[in-house]
Amino acid sequence: MKRLRGLAAAPGVARAGWVRIDPAPAPMGGRTSAAGVVGEVRRLAEASASAAVDLEAISNDVRKEGHPDEAAIFEAQAAIARDPALAAMATERIRDAHDDAIAAVLEAAGAFADQLRSLEDELLAARAADVIDVGDRIARRIAGIDQPTVGLERAAVVVADDLPPSVTATLPRERLLGIALAGSSPTAHAAILARAYGIPAVVAVRDLLETLTAAAESGNQSELAIDGATGDVFVDPDEATIKRLNQAATSGRERHEQDLVEARFPAVTHDGTAVSLVANIGTPDESDGAIALGAEGVGLFRTEFLFLERTSPPSEDEQCAAYERAIRAFAPHPVTIRLLDVGGDKPIPYLPIASEANPFLGVRALRLARTAPDLFVTQLRACYRAAAAGPVKVMAPMVADLGDVELLLTLAERARTELTEEGCPIGDVALGVMLEIPSAILVSDTYFGRIAFASLGTNDLAQYTLAVDRGNPALEQYRDALHPAVLCLIAQAVDAATRSGIELSVCGEMAGDPAAALALVGLGLRSLSMAAPSLPAVRRAIRGSAAAELASAARAALDEASATAARARFDALLPAGGRA
Ligand code: PEP
Ligand code: MG
Repeated sequence: MKRLRGLAAAPGVARAGWVRIDPAPAPMGGRTSAAGVVGEVRRLAEASASAAVDLEAISNDVRKEGHPDEAAIFEAQAAIARDPALAAMATERIRDAHDDAIAAVLEAAGAFADQLRSLEDELLAARAADVIDVGDRIARRIAGIDQPTVGLERAAVVVADDLPPSVTATLPRERLLGIALAGSSPTAHAAILARAYGIPAVVAVRDLLETLTAAAESGNQSELAIDGATGDVFVDPDEATIKRLNQAATSGRERHEQDLVEARFPAVTHDGTAVSLVANIGTPDESDGAIALGAEGVGLFRTEFLFLERTSPPSEDEQCAAYERAIRAFAPHPVTIRLLDVGGDKPIPYLPIASEANPFLGVRALRLARTAPDLFVTQLRACYRAAAAGPVKVMAPMVADLGDVELLLTLAERARTELTEEGCPIGDVALGVMLEIPSAILVSDTYFGRIAFASLGTNDLAQYTLAVDRGNPALEQYRDALHPAVLCLIAQAVDAATRSGIELSVCGEMAGDPAAALALVGLGLRSLSMAAPSLPAVRRAIRGSAAAELASAARAALDEASATAARARFDALLPAGGRA
């Protein structure tokens, strides 16, 4: 047996023989003459249009199978095929370098993908594979070669360097037992599709292809076992490993069944303090899973997914439809929509944001509304319209002080007035802010009276309080949000919210960490929002503790000298199993 390490991409265990899929070689590009330029430009345009039609057809098929969000991946690919910027880059190569249409589109897609990779954003870098996939599809169209269809003659784990989304979506699902990739990342579309289809997947597996090639060359038809929850890959697993993996699969299923049963139990401490547990979601498709785990509403709907990976902003109607899907799913519980949180750290091509030396301290989130107010008014209009379908709260990210609150209120008023004058039906929207910049807490008394609620974004709050870049793995030892400095700010926010009588909740990762969740309850928070998979453990931790004990531990933690000491106080209060 050989064990290889990769990254967990889609949970579940698969054990079977493997089939390697190599990308079909792209057609060869060539050169043209000055006289051939017009013809090549026309071939490029025709092939791009028909590739877009193919991708729209895949999108429709995936939607019909009940995966609307995954269908959007292929819509986005169709948009890339129609993207005038890609066409302009390729046309330039035909005109200036006399590349033929095939060479030009492959070059242009490669250059476009390189630009995405250079942005140092994991999500956008993962999209480079989509652009290459589209360039390849257009080149095949020009060459008149069919798109390769990948059949699986037997049920197997598919092994590849990377899998383009269009191949992943078209693999025969009944024979696709698992996916193991040497490259890719957990946020790439191959992984997103695997999660949506419930197929175990592991990505970025070191030495995968080399090991399997060597095994195949020695005539050994090896078996592969993958654990999509841990990222482990075993080549020819031994009996003990098979037993352990089977147990892991069974206990994973049993734990999930148990979680679904416990989802109906209220999150109430022994001594009767009730805590509302709600979900963080990134797309409306996550609603059903979160509701099944007992989420009583959404405390943070990150709306960035609608805005990234495209060449123009989503329309008001498109946004409204996405928000309505989540609102209808969670009604009568409220959905808290967060206004767009992008900027220097999450660049989007259609927004002219200058590159910045310190993007986390730059023109990010609500700060963008000062130069691009229409973008936010359109989003707010979509929120007001969607609110006709059920209760909605809207919050602004990266609010620093009263000035930002006034900006939010002005934009919201503009959206509401416009819709009313147009006679468009709207619903009530509660307006609030995220507390993720320390200044916003320190001066909260100056504006809490103007808003309905606030939510602590502890990921950024810890980053800005402790001066710890949230993406830098070298700073792990400094990162714990249970640092007493962060706890003091949270305590201050609780006091200010109580004075002003506004609702206060938490939507940073801290809320989904059982020990930290107990600290938050101890500090007086009564609403916690977290990624749905964290709900069961937090629910168990709260049900296993006493609010009075948590309050006295929280008071003591405020005076501790380190996050480690503060955390130890709450670890000690976790009931057995609360940690899981
Ligand atoms: C936060 O900062 O805690 C938060 C919830 O927002 P995000 O992680 O999206 O920045
Ligand atoms: Mg944040």
